[in-house]
Amino acid sequence: MTAKAKLSIEWLSVCSGCEFGIVDLHEKFFSLLEHVDLVRMPILMDTKGYPEADIGIVTGSIRTDHDIESARKMHNSCKSIIAFGTCAVYGGPQGAAYAHTNAELINDAYQDNPTTTSDYLPENVPELLPQTSPLDAEIPIDLYMPGCPPHAAYIFDGLLSTLKSEPTRITRHSVCYRCPRFMKKTEIDTIRRTTEGKLDPELCFLSQGVLCFGSVTLDRCLAPCPANGVPCFSCG
Ligand code: SF4
Ligand code: SF4
Repeated sequence: MTAKAKLSIEWLSVCSGCEFGIVDLHEKFFSLLEHVDLVRMPILMDTKGYPEADIGIVTGSIRTDHDIESARKMHNSCKSIIAFGTCAVYGGPQGAAYAHTNAELINDAYQDNPTTTSDYLPENVPELLPQTSPLDAEIPIDLYMPGCPPHAAYIFDGLLSTLKSEPTRITRHSVCYRCPRFMKKTEIDTIRRTTEGKLDPELCFLSQGVLCFGSVTLDRCLAPCPANGVPCFSCG
């Protein structure tokens, strides 16, 4: 029996959505375990240190000095690295914190906060860096897998293609590419909500005057929203 590839997972500054995306593979998660030995996954396992692995999945962006250290440890312990999720690929929603200084963020989280009762500041809080960076600002990446989180189908495909060194099915198509609605030229000159009037379920939202961002959104979701009556709002 050939040895299974070892898979190591690390999260940096995240919301945990990407880890839930992996766990949400449901029964496919067990199919995945037929191909890999999971040696590290903080959301499921209490593994200390950074075991050697064939593939490393890193989620989240670089926001603290601890993130830099963790990213480098993954780089040193894994043969290939997947930047997993919009945060790891682009920097992600952590950039919204730019509206505040780091001192304001720390103060708001730990001290001047309705749920805190003292000026207690825990020890060893990682130091916030001046800015949020994507993972490739610190370490080389072998596969970029954006999505917030990436769809389960792409997770499975990306992992297997990396394991087998085969091209991935992850494409640069937009949501429109997979959307079942057809587009036709209309003379609509006003924008309306989906609740205003009756909509044709087969016609593109734009053709009916409803805003839909499918054309400027990468298909990392298999386009469930426009297929089910909801315009794409570019969540990924
Ligand atoms: Fe959360 Fe989205 Fe960032 Fe993943 S990419 S950690 S789901 S915000
Ligand atoms: Fe693209 Fe939205 Fe039109 Fe579908 S409904 S084709 S996703 S713009």
